[in-house]
Amino acid sequence: MKNLTFNQKRTYVRKLIEKYANQLNTPIPTLRFKAGSGKRTQYHEDMLVYGSNYNNGEEIFINLNLHRHLSDYDNTVAHEFLHTIKPNLPHGMLFDNYIKQIRRGENELAVPFWTRFLDKLTWSKPYDCRA
Ligand SMILES: [Zn+2]
Repeated sequence: MKNLTFNQKRTYVRKLIEKYANQLNTPIPTLRFKAGSGKRTQYHEDMLVYGSNYNNGEEIFINLNLHRHLSDYDNTVAHEFLHTIKPNLPHGMLFDNYIKQIRRGENELAVPFWTRFLDKLTWSKPYDCRA
């Protein structure tokens, strides 16, 4: 992917955003590609993460430089959309399972059978979108 230009990466990510917004019936978010807008100090942390979700999915930041493979963009974009449609779901096994479902093209996420065994366990990690 090293030979892709910034514009080619951006085009790829924009198409992904449209695909997942359609699939999940959510508004198309405003895309941010650069940190440090000055509006929010949080943007300054963005250079270290793959993606971030702001204002319940109104804005999504995708770090174009940090990803190594095109499929990593799919994962990050699906990840950020999942924050939009499941805002209270912590990172963890269920979160990762839903990402796989989104990437498979599902539009209604199915609760996996094994979640019944997770009641007493905590799988959450801090919100940093690095996973
Ligand atoms: Zn996240």
